[in-house]
Amino acid sequence: MTKCAICDGLGLVRVMTSEGNWASRECECQEVQREERRIAAVQIPERYRHCTLDTYDVIRGADASLGRALLTARKFVEAYPVDTVGRGLLFTGSIGVGKTHLAVGVLRRLVQERGARGLFCDYRELLKSIQNSYNPQVNVTELELLKPVFAAEVLVIDDLGAQKPNEWVWDTVALILNARYNDKQTTIITTNYANLPAGGGAYLDETGKKLTVSDFTLGDRIGDRMRSRLAEMCIEIHMEGSDWRQSVKLARFG
Ligand code: ADP
Repeated sequence: MTKCAICDGLGLVRVMTSEGNWASRECECQEVQREERRIAAVQIPERYRHCTLDTYDVIRGADASLGRALLTARKFVEAYPVDTVGRGLLFTGSIGVGKTHLAVGVLRRLVQERGARGLFCDYRELLKSIQNSYNPQVNVTELELLKPVFAAEVLVIDDLGAQKPNEWVWDTVALILNARYNDKQTTIITTNYANLPAGGGAYLDETGKKLTVSDFTLGDRIGDRMRSRLAEMCIEIHMEGSDWRQSVKLARFG
């Protein structure tokens, strides 16, 4: 970090008060540093560092749901925290439409502009590290791992349902979501699974073509009880369209 040119790294500057006396006050660089520390604590993975609401493009001809998703994300940031009353967002839709991009964009804004303590978690990695903590050779307990997940004012859980479900997975998801629900903490979730009950099949478009990558639904992957919990906790933002990465590749290579 480069030294502040105004306070020379002291964190304080001398100012003249209206009564004509000299006084010390905090240098502006201190707030910038606090913001940088809050952002670093969020642990946004390298591949999503570029994601902000301003770098999310809605190109001409794109599905209307994408523009609506961006608008809702922006409104959510404006409403946080008073008018969101602990509710979060649930981004649904097929792979590559930009769900994680928008989730990270919202998280960043809340951390930078609203001073929220935020955390980004990849669902599969989180479950893997909890499972790993049961190994006696690993020096961290399940509770130590979950503490920041419970404590984050704003938590992003990326790719909910990506892990093949079993009893343990369901119990762990229930533990996390119920704790956050009870504490009225904001949870922002992305999932590639259709927000339908177990056994409900995937979304179909008007031609009967499947819009999701999988035959499974969110109910199949996290259980119907947790799916209804999510309905109470989050506002759903459904996004449709083609995989952004494929569209960019196609545009580049003709
Ligand atoms: P999803 O979570 O829906 O699978 P991602 O958010 O991971 O999709 O998007 C995949 C990549 O494409 C990311 O690098 C993301 O930044 C980029 N991307 C997706 N949609 C857009 C968009 N509308 N504008 C800019 N970048 C986008």
